[in-house]
Amino acid sequence: MSERKPRVVVVGGGLVGALNTCFLAKRGFIVDLYEKRSDIRKAEHVKGRSINLALSTRGRTALRMVGLEDTVLENGIRMHARMIHDPDGSRRPILYGKEDQYIMSVDRRRLNEVLLTAAEKNPNVTCHFEHKLVSCDFKTGEAEFINNEGKRIKKTVDLIVGNDGAFSGVRKEMMKATLLDYQQQYIPHGYMELTIPPSPKDEYLMETNYLHIWPRNEFMMIALPNLDKSFTCTLFMPFEIFNSIKTEEDLMNFFRDKFPDSIPLMGEETLKQIFMSSKALPMVSIKCSPYHVEDKGLIMGDAAHAMVPFYGQGMNAGFEDCIALDEMLDLYKNDFSKALPAYSETRTVDAHAICDLAMYNYVEMRKSVNSKLFLMRKKLDNL
Ligand code: FAD
Repeated sequence: MSERKPRVVVVGGGLVGALNTCFLAKRGFIVDLYEKRSDIRKAEHVKGRSINLALSTRGRTALRMVGLEDTVLENGIRMHARMIHDPDGSRRPILYGKEDQYIMSVDRRRLNEVLLTAAEKNPNVTCHFEHKLVSCDFKTGEAEFINNEGKRIKKTVDLIVGNDGAFSGVRKEMMKATLLDYQQQYIPHGYMELTIPPSPKDEYLMETNYLHIWPRNEFMMIALPNLDKSFTCTLFMPFEIFNSIKTEEDLMNFFRDKFPDSIPLMGEETLKQIFMSSKALPMVSIKCSPYHVEDKGLIMGDAAHAMVPFYGQGMNAGFEDCIALDEMLDLYKNDFSKALPAYSETRTVDAHAICDLAMYNYVEMRKSVNSKLFLMRKKLDNL
């Protein structure tokens, strides 16, 4: 390759796009990041998915490589074990691994803000907010965006990277340009976020360093701790059951039957207010292959492999994508014509496997953790 620095467009300034920009900037590439939303660092309220996320080794390794692990961990909460809430209100912990092993609960918005700020610190990075991708051409490397004033902007680069999430526009364009196999599956379950606020004394109302689970076989609720002493609860269950709860009375009968110990923690009025004014959201699993078009286009993160959230690995796997691409760029000395096919080939196998594991883990979380066999196995593992 010539001495000229490669120019890259990253579409999407979510978790993976912002981290990927840090990685690409570190290589000396000239990076333009385009994000359709406004800058979340300036927004009062950000609409979207889960408030907090479980960060594990995969994700931490990637953050370490761009010097951000400590900053992120400072604002995370360790979760050493699952805390199972049985229907009779009793609780029992199940360790994830050895005593010193844990995953972290981190705030999605704060994490995204840290990543965007780190990306923007690089003089070779420019972030463009309120710019939505309209189209891209993988022959010429031209990407077209529309900004919030309706103005169209074109940018021609060496590589267009789609980090634009499960409904990726870059992926749609790739499907027109190459033989891309694509498969998506909506599961019959939806999710809704509820909350357990801090106590009147501003303390956590449950044990802090746990991922709390209320497994009820066909559905479940989980709760992760936040720094402000609250917990974000996520109720996962079939849309059929969500739709059958029509009144406040239905709701309270359901919660008294299935999650009785959570009612005093959430507060009856808060529970009614949030549930009745919210809509259960869908979950999709996406597999596709390949992830690249020649030497000009690439998709990563949810754009390439959105998965159901039960393994807590969507973001973590997306962060690991950034490491995988970095390794291929090292190996092939920034030659995109070699690095992209190699990335695609190796990454597809791993990403498809983690999508399958995520699907399987729903059964484990809502059902298998209740079985005697599972508990015996865990006890043996921890001996
Ligand atoms: P996204 O976060 O979707 O970001 C895509 C970005 O692209 C967005 O900012 C969007 O505005 C922008 N964009 C989209 N289209 C365009 C366009 N045309 N032009 C410009 N910009 C565009 N993962 C974990 O690892 N651990 C967890 O505990 C976990 N919990 C989860 C809980 C729930 C309920 C859900 C739904 C998911 C969870 N995940 C978790 C998965 C995780 O949220 C995703 O894997 C992660 O957000 C993917 O990041 P991304 O950057 O690829 O995509």
